[in-house]
Amino acid sequence: MTDNYFSNTLINWYKANKRDLPWRNTKDPYKIWISEIILQQTKVSQGLPYYHKFIANFPNVKALAKANEEKVLKTWQGLGYYSRARNMHSAAKYIAFELNGVFPSTFEEIKKLKGVGDYTAAAISSFCFKEKKPVLDGNVYRLLSRFFGIETPIDSSQGKKEFYEILSQLIPDKNPDLFNQSIMEFGALQCKPKSPNCPSCTWENKCEAFAKKKTHILPIKSKKKKQRIRYFNYIVYKHEKNLYIQKRIKKDIWQNMYEFPLLETENEITKLPEKNFNGGFLKSIKKFKHLLSHQKIYATFWEININSSLKNKNQYKVVNLENINEFPFPKIVENYIKNDL
Ligand code: SF4
Repeated sequence: MTDNYFSNTLINWYKANKRDLPWRNTKDPYKIWISEIILQQTKVSQGLPYYHKFIANFPNVKALAKANEEKVLKTWQGLGYYSRARNMHSAAKYIAFELNGVFPSTFEEIKKLKGVGDYTAAAISSFCFKEKKPVLDGNVYRLLSRFFGIETPIDSSQGKKEFYEILSQLIPDKNPDLFNQSIMEFGALQCKPKSPNCPSCTWENKCEAFAKKKTHILPIKSKKKKQRIRYFNYIVYKHEKNLYIQKRIKKDIWQNMYEFPLLETENEITKLPEKNFNGGFLKSIKKFKHLLSHQKIYATFWEININSSLKNKNQYKVVNLENINEFPFPKIVENYIKNDL
């Protein structure tokens, strides 16, 4: 099999099967960057409305640079991995104010942007500037691992090196952008994680995993991530129509998002310590579970009605119930506000 055969087959498949996505009809690096950051850890169907909302609110890099962080996080609300939004905001400021608003045009320069790693820099530099840089995302690892029958774990340094070398040999000089789009799309639509479409696959006769019946075990991952379990007790103080919220300023999940006053405990508690009542009475208790990639959050919302304002209110923001949606909240808090408050 020649390298051209591999890339030509993929590109032909792509032309016939690709999805029509808005970031594929532009060469604007700003828009491609936004789409690539949104699509990290996010499926296209979930990311698409966010892409439209983000571009509508911040149509170019200067608009994003000038926006306040709360508006950026609010636009991102519900998408998770909020460091992506914070990093983009800070990278936009760098481009707007240090690079005179001109988006960098080489792999090395793009990689200097906060939150941009090898994969994203390769995607932007190849799609927009036709730089010959291989893109290794989860879809590409999966396809290569199955097609060549490679059993080296994809999350090992040896695996990363091996797959990168193979892909570097496959990417053509001509149309590296099209090749990268094609291989990612093929992995996403055809060589899917569960139930790949092998019977209708153009590679059916050449694919190692298919021949050896190993599609379900490839690609291999070595490390199982340890999950941390946390117990969040949100104390929802309500005084007439006022609520108390605070910003999560510590380096932790949901940094710079808002939440209710929080008591984090080692274990689940069945009774709220007396001092947390602040003279009020318990109106309701609601419990939810929220899964993140490395953490499982058990959240209990203790709604406490108080007769007068909190004494230590200065550490909180007092907001009227009608205005609460102006603030960015993590999904679990947003759902509570929407459905239970
Ligand atoms: S035959 Fe199946 S496993 Fe092999 S590349 Fe095609 S879809 Fe993927």
